Amino acid sequence: MIILDRDGVINRLVVDPEQGTVNSPLHPSQVQLVPGAGEAITILNQAGHRVSIATNQPAAAKGTTTMANLEAVHARVLELVRAQGGLVTSSHICFHKSEDGCSCRKPATGLLEQALGGVSDRERRESWMVGDGITDVEAGAKLGLNTVYIGPRRSDHLHMLQERELNPTQFFSSLMDFAKWISER
Ligand SMILES: [Mg+2]
Repeated sequence: MIILDRDGVINRLVVDPEQGTVNSPLHPSQVQLVPGAGEAITILNQAGHRVSIATNQPAAAKGTTTMANLEAVHARVLELVRAQGGLVTSSHICFHKSEDGCSCRKPATGLLEQALGGVSDRERRESWMVGDGITDVEAGAKLGLNTVYIGPRRSDHLHMLQERELNPTQFFSSLMDFAKWISER
């Protein structure tokens, strides 16, 4: 099982140069895949891996978009992935905001445990959590999964990982690079 974070890994983040903000898509019209992400999921599938998504989506709870928009955004991401041949077995979404104190929002492990439900011990040991956030690595590490940090090896990120004593199993600059690496092992 390969559990993927969504925003910044599969779909692009939405940059608003005027506000200087970087956000998850809040409307389906804003959804664009990271180049190669759909093909990367296809490569993972072809290498025999099931792929799930675990994503925090607090925007409706914060009042900056609607639940219907968040659901449409996710449906659009899956549609674009499928158009490139990629199959996502299951999606696990936390709609809470951090103040809610839920057990699903990453870095808590609830979403990942949902994704791993019914997976054999053997498959679990060979499972991966892949994300571009510190919290993705943290959630995966709590469950003893292999972890991948996607993104540039920026010193501030590395410092934050180090501070939390997090040691990603692997670093890659994109999901495609990870997919190529794991499919060639
Ligand atoms: Mg992310």
